[in-house]
Amino acid sequence: VTKSQDLFNRRKKVVANGVGVFNTATVMEAKGAIIIDVDGRELIDFAGGIGVVNAGHCPEPVVEAIREQAGKYLHTSFNVVTYEPYIQLCEELAEILPHGDNTKVMLVSTGAEAVENAIKIARQATKKSAILCFTGAYHGRTMMAMTLTSKVSYKYDCGPFSPEVYRLPFPNFYRYRGTRDMDKFVEDELKRLYESALNLVDPKSVAAVIIEPIQGEGGFNPVPQKYLEGLRGFCDEHGILLIMDEIQSGFCRTGHWASWQHYGVQPDISTYAKSMGSGLPIAAVVGRADIMDAAAIGSIGGTYIGSPICCVAASATIKYMKDINLNEKAIKIGNVIMDRLQHLMKQHSEIGDVRGVGAMVAIEFVKNGDPRQPNSEICPQIVKGCAEDGLVILSAGTYKNALRILSPLVITEEQLEKGLSILEVQIKKAIK
Ligand code: PMP
Repeated sequence: VTKSQDLFNRRKKVVANGVGVFNTATVMEAKGAIIIDVDGRELIDFAGGIGVVNAGHCPEPVVEAIREQAGKYLHTSFNVVTYEPYIQLCEELAEILPHGDNTKVMLVSTGAEAVENAIKIARQATKKSAILCFTGAYHGRTMMAMTLTSKVSYKYDCGPFSPEVYRLPFPNFYRYRGTRDMDKFVEDELKRLYESALNLVDPKSVAAVIIEPIQGEGGFNPVPQKYLEGLRGFCDEHGILLIMDEIQSGFCRTGHWASWQHYGVQPDISTYAKSMGSGLPIAAVVGRADIMDAAAIGSIGGTYIGSPICCVAASATIKYMKDINLNEKAIKIGNVIMDRLQHLMKQHSEIGDVRGVGAMVAIEFVKNGDPRQPNSEICPQIVKGCAEDGLVILSAGTYKNALRILSPLVITEEQLEKGLSILEVQIKKAIK
């Protein structure tokens, strides 16, 4: 047996089965877009630790900042003693992600916690309790975040779930457009949104709507532009706060700090994690100052909110992203991936859709070229075949019928081409 197989066998014996795993790859070291496994084999990384290493594995300035901070202090708790790295990161976030004239920030450790706190803040700010969310949504695995998450297999036997959560169908243009054009589709979906006031929940009791402008785990489904504008209007009419979850779509993935900047639609509160810290657990809730300040003192926080090590890692990540112009790189990489996959789509009716914003690109498999017939069998084969050929890649979607590309954005042209070639071979193999 290889060292990788041995490690995997040890995992099976001691780690709870519920901790799922996409493939059998292992890691000894990682740099840029390359993972070196415990047998010394090089793998190209199209998964990026589930969208966490947009700035690459172990960017030098980030590693250096962590080392330096580790020599000073590791922890005091920001609830007890104030430290500058926390303040500095909040200042930087408020600058790149402004929410109106006056923006405030709170830090936590994970995406799910950011979502939990966004909901708590929205409820306190509005003094209302109901939350609207969407099918296909993923917001995390803590109790409220899991309740907001749509896919049932994430929550078997985990209830009772949080009350006062209502779900609308996500306006998934690819799957549900039928014979309608975009304008008609959006018109119908907005009608459904307004009808929710009649048949789902009284908007007077709704604190917030939470949406991923481009769904991540749900299969990289972008909200149609006019729908997001209409949703903003609906929220304004009813005094509902609009929360955008940018945990997977943020930090240069779509060529912006947040994908709402691409839409030009302003959230009241937004959530960030993943690539913000280049792998260290750090997450943020960013919002309009008046809303953020509505949370009572002591009602948001915790022992590990904004660890100093994680704060300096995030600040160094932001600086590095600016220095190497990572947003621009994302657009370039996205174009290469799109061209290549769209070319492939033309040759195979099993590929129903190739879509994306910037470098957040997915490929969806269907049966008989029909968007309503997701093909769930193909992706697991491709993911496995790719891992054997040296490419780590993830699937996504309610039906697990999409492959998503979340490679580091510092990937070289050569690595990208090689990765796409491995993917192409495996797609062709799985389709035949
Ligand atoms: N929201 C979105 C959009 C996500 O993609 C994720 C993670 N996949 C989360 C929330 C939860 O983040 P975490 O895993 O850090 O709790």
